[in-house]
Order: sequence, then structure tokens, then C-alpha cells
Amino acid sequence: MDRSDQAYRIWLKEAVRKVQADANRSADTHLLRFPLPEHWGIDLYLKDESTHPTGSLKHRLARSLFLYGLCNGWIRPDRPVIEASSGSTAVSEAYFAHLIGVPFIAVMPRTTSREKQRLIEFHGGRCHLVDDPRTVYEVSARLAEETGGHYMDQFTYAERATDWRGNNNIAESIYHQLRMERYPEPAWIVATAGTGGTSATIGRYVRYMQYGTRICVADPENSCFFDGWVGGDPGVRCDSGSRIEGIGRPRMEPSFVPGAIDRMMKVPDAASVAAVRALERAIGRKAGGSTGTGLWASLRIVAEMLAQGRTGSVVTLLCDPGDRYLDKYYSDAWLAEQGMDIGPYAAAIDGFLETGGWPS
Ligand SMILES: *Cc1c(COP(=O)(O)O)cnc(C)c1O
Repeated sequence: MDRSDQAYRIWLKEAVRKVQADANRSADTHLLRFPLPEHWGIDLYLKDESTHPTGSLKHRLARSLFLYGLCNGWIRPDRPVIEASSGSTAVSEAYFAHLIGVPFIAVMPRTTSREKQRLIEFHGGRCHLVDDPRTVYEVSARLAEETGGHYMDQFTYAERATDWRGNNNIAESIYHQLRMERYPEPAWIVATAGTGGTSATIGRYVRYMQYGTRICVADPENSCFFDGWVGGDPGVRCDSGSRIEGIGRPRMEPSFVPGAIDRMMKVPDAASVAAVRALERAIGRKAGGSTGTGLWASLRIVAEMLAQGRTGSVVTLLCDPGDRYLDKYYSDAWLAEQGMDIGPYAAAIDGFLETGGWPS
């Protein structure tokens, strides 16, 4: 039996070319410095993923998922691509779907920021909102079946669609950009986890390249990654949705690779918000809540290194821009509504940057 179809192969070739051409037109993202007192002998960096064409680290993931889906024969002309997302992935996938000319539907919790919904629609995608964040998977699978479309399923495929050995993935890029720094091999890289794909890629790359760097994943309040990692239990569940958009999941996602992670740290949501506001005071840039989660954990690790008299570098990620969340993490009314008091955490950060002491 011969399943080759000339028209489809011409379409496929053109689609792959368009996705590759998007990468070829793009520049690498910056590695920014977070100012710490020089005499500490510790350097902290943020890999600024907010400058991708679709504004977040999910641009990398969406590119990989589209190439994977196209080359597997899963994405077909005129058939919709459907995704379960807390927003950022859907923004990037809407962009790539539009690029290759297929419809796109995002299945998202109703609490997803309005700005992200607007961006998905801006790129020609459709938002399908659900009340219970735990149902996004089954609703996506059902929509794919009903429409003959393809459920992209980032939470399963993120880790395997990404080229973890190199190909200018986020880890390779970080090491390349650190080459001329005083501590080119970081002591720690701190990530956060939504799909778990980023931490899997970085952790695998570090081991593959035989670096001594450790990987820490910072987990927000309403997420089960921390408990699942600590207890070694892939079956853990949690009921409420994460307030830190992009990270924290109600289940151990298949794409989360516990063995590639050296350490996990639970970060209170108020600490994430305090950190992201401190980031603006330090470098003049707003970022999303997940950047605050990673930054809080990074500052704690810097404090530990300082207390132990160790020198070296720490890298974390600036995952997406803060202008998507002006009505959330930058809104005092939202904080009040959530009953979140960031005061003590803000004071901890300010005190640490001034004295090097971390409150116990
Ligand atoms: C997805 C996401 C993350 C986490 O990345 P994963 O590779 O999915 O674990 C962090 N921050 C934001 C804003 C995200 O959208």
C-alpha cells in the first residue's frame, strides 16, 4: 500500500520551511545580569525569554512541537491544532498555526489573563474557556476528535519534542553566552515547571555535556510537582489551580522528568510576586509571576552560597513580560482580593540585597 500523497507532501515541505525560516530570522535571547554586590563573588543572570517573537519561552516549545507534529504526520492541512494551555503556549502556537495556515483552538482555564486571550485571538486563534482547570486535557482531546484535528498535548510531548542535546536549545545558548564570564560554568540553574520541558532540557543537557551545574526547580503553592518529586509518586494530584500563570500543575505531567532535577524548592505565591516587583527595581523590567518564583529561589541559593563562603554563578529565566499581568501581579487590588501580603517577602529581598543576610 502506498500512502504518499503528492499535494500533502508539497504542503508539508512548505510548512516545515516556514517554521524553520521563522527560527532563521530570529536572534538569540539575551542573558541579563541581576546586580549583586561585586565583593560577594557571586553572579546572578536571567535568560530573557520575553524577547521571542511571541513574548515567552513557549516560542521555543511551540516551534519544537510544530516540527514534531508536522514530521510525525500529525498536523494536516486545514485540520485544527488544539492545545490545553494556561496561555503562553497557546499564544505561541496560535502564531505558528497562523504561519502554516491551520486553524488553532486553545483550551484554557477561565482565569487566564485577558491579555493572553487577546494575544491568542490576535494571532488568529480561538479561545475555549473551561471553569475547572483540571478538565483542559479531556476537553482538548474531545475537541480534536470532534473536529478531526490534532491535540498537540504539550504536557506529554514537551520533553521529547525538544532537541535536548543541542541545536541552540535554551541550555546550549546559556552556556555559550557565559563563556566570557568570570564563572562560565554556573553552580546552579534555577527553572520553574509548567510542562517540565525546560527543566528536562537543561538537566539532560548538563549531564550530557558533563557539567557540574545543579538544576533547581522552584514550584508555586498550588502545584503537585514538589510533592511528586519529593515522594517519588507520579500519581499525586492537587485540587486548586496555580495562581502563578505558566507554572504549577494539578498533576505530575508526563513531560516533567524528576530524575533530571537535583533539587526542588516550594515558593509562596506572595514571595513570587515580591520577587518580580524587586526585579523591576533592580533592572527596570517587568516580568510574569513565574520569573518571580525562579528569582526568589535563585536569591535563596545565592544567600546559601554566600553563607558557605562559595563563589560562582547562578542562572534563572525571565520567562515572559510583565505587561501581560498588569491586572494581576502588578495590581495591589488583585493582591488584596487574593489575600496576599507581599510585605514580609519584599522586606526579605531588600534586606538580603543590602546586608547579604537571609531571614531564617
Ligand atoms: C511554560 C512556562 C514556564 C515553565 O516552562 P516549562 O518548560 O513548560 O516547564 C514558566 N513560565 C511561563 C510564563 C511559562 O509559560
